[in-house]
Amino acid sequence: MSKKPRKKLVKRIKIDVDKCNGCRACEVICSSFHAVPRYSSANPARSRIRVIRDPLADIYVPVYAGEYAAAQCAGRNEYTIDGKRYEECSFCRASCPSRPLFKEADSGLPLKCDMCESDPTLEQPKCVEWCLAQALVYEEREEEVVGEEEAAPDEVELGLEALAAKHGWQTLLDTVTRLTKRG
Ligand code: SF4
Ligand code: SF4
Repeated sequence: MSKKPRKKLVKRIKIDVDKCNGCRACEVICSSFHAVPRYSSANPARSRIRVIRDPLADIYVPVYAGEYAAAQCAGRNEYTIDGKRYEECSFCRASCPSRPLFKEADSGLPLKCDMCESDPTLEQPKCVEWCLAQALVYEEREEEVVGEEEAAPDEVELGLEALAAKHGWQTLLDTVTRLTKRG
């Protein structure tokens, strides 16, 4: 008898750069939603989405905080948009040692977009809800789980070890405790 394929829910935010007007409402609400207690402050520096802005060229690019990287990567990307060159690493999603982006201000711990995981579950992530220009569009779809993904718990453990090596277990525990005590 063939095994029924396992499914997982994949959440995705589609970014339409042409619609983004650089208002930064997404940064404000993300930082406020993740403040402790919730909505107690708004500080874009703590946001898990940052908008790379070039008002003179009318270019605005929302970038979501992605994976933590313990070391700088060896390669670099260079972007030219409408004839303007952007700094290497400008549009990278990683929280890495080469720049201050996507790091918690107090502890230096990395920030990562968690799709506004909360209980009860939100209908859509906060940044999408607050983006009146509709530059951010939320989508959900089911995908089959393939063999490789069974190894996910190990990846989580490795990530924690790398973080602890850099920041120390106590800082890590203090931060997790603080982040889980939501008012
Ligand atoms: S809220 Fe929407 S339009 Fe405003 S900066 Fe963010 S992505 Fe761009
Ligand atoms: S989905 Fe939620 S956590 Fe991710 S950037 Fe948007 S508001 Fe922040």
